[in-house]
Amino acid sequence: STPANALTGPRVTVCVRKRPLTRKERTAHNRDIVTVNPADGALFVHELREKVDLTKHVVTHPFTFDRVFGEQVSNSIVYENTAKPLVDTLFAGGRGTCFAYGQTGAGKTFTMAGDGTENPGLYTLAVRDVFDRIRAMEADEWQFASEQGIDDFEPSDPPQVWISFYEIYASRLQDLLNRCAKLECREDGNNQVQIVGLAERLCEVEEDVLDCIDEGSAARSTGVTGANDDSSRSHAVFQIELRQPPSTSPPLDVHNAMRERLLRGGRHNQGELQKGAEIGRLCFIDLAGSERGSDTANSTKQTRMEGAEINKSLLALKECIRAMDKRKDHTPFRGSKLTQVLKASFVGKSCKTVMIANISPASCNVEHTLNTLRYSDRVKEI
Ligand code: ADP
Ligand code: MG
Repeated sequence: STPANALTGPRVTVCVRKRPLTRKERTAHNRDIVTVNPADGALFVHELREKVDLTKHVVTHPFTFDRVFGEQVSNSIVYENTAKPLVDTLFAGGRGTCFAYGQTGAGKTFTMAGDGTENPGLYTLAVRDVFDRIRAMEADEWQFASEQGIDDFEPSDPPQVWISFYEIYASRLQDLLNRCAKLECREDGNNQVQIVGLAERLCEVEEDVLDCIDEGSAARSTGVTGANDDSSRSHAVFQIELRQPPSTSPPLDVHNAMRERLLRGGRHNQGELQKGAEIGRLCFIDLAGSERGSDTANSTKQTRMEGAEINKSLLALKECIRAMDKRKDHTPFRGSKLTQVLKASFVGKSCKTVMIANISPASCNVEHTLNTLRYSDRVKEI
């Protein structure tokens, strides 16, 4: 059931999502200056300029991306075309990463975390899919056993789902599932990056994960220092790890592994709170507001430093994705804390990345929108 291209094919996909005008923007007489053409991935920004003699003229900026989503497109359609293929990558033994990029208010959190139960976001939709697929594997195993006439059949343990959720705030790591505890990131002898002390929750059902998402999202908006903190100044990393049940060796193809164990007459092992070998990993990153790096208005020393750090991390991210896309050997992941902790998602052969650039359609945001589109364009520049 895993598509053949779950590990091969293009490594980097860049999509743009335009949100609707907000009521506030309408009230302020903003125009919608962005048109999208989903059929061919074209997107146009119609910038209204004023000449010296006060006559107005329109400058149209054309862009092309792998996919463009208009303001009518739901989270589930965005999911089908962005993160869902990464769930295939996860089950095929690879690492998938999905970024939401864009200025504050452009719709990153709406896309990732969603907007209440009627509008679930990519985190939730992916988690549902993961558990659906595990259930389908189990059902398939039963069916296979009965077809083979195996009468003393005991189902094998399903793969484990481990969740973690943390935040990178001005190059510090904070655990969103452990009261914003400070975390250290270290590289071990095998050049593997470890986040020391990161809370990892073993989730047996979808609802367990949804609880983690709620808990982490609440911690994110409050932050470690309370009111002073703001989600637009941090990168949030939501991670789903698929692991073998601890008793088994780590084959790459989970599906066939179950079948093989069945044919060998393998025995069911009681799962304990122990981590098995990694099968795959899926990360969702709700990035800090992209305007932060350039925002110098009413800045204090603290916010300037934060801005510089965010700028550095978004530039390093761009370079890492470019290196991945071009299949370069050297990936400049040391450029920032963000890219350093995501190293494992950039360097392997079976890594895939989807960037979702979120944009506002409002005329007042034209500069930020153009910046976002130029950044995203550079991510995949040929
Ligand atoms: P960000 O996380 O990028 O700062 P948000 O996701 O918080 O932005 O979105 C800002 C506002 O716009 C929120 O009120 C959100 O509900 C709304 N919004 C964003 N994207 C959409 C969309 N695609 N459809 C409807 N409303 C949206
Ligand atoms: Mg947000």
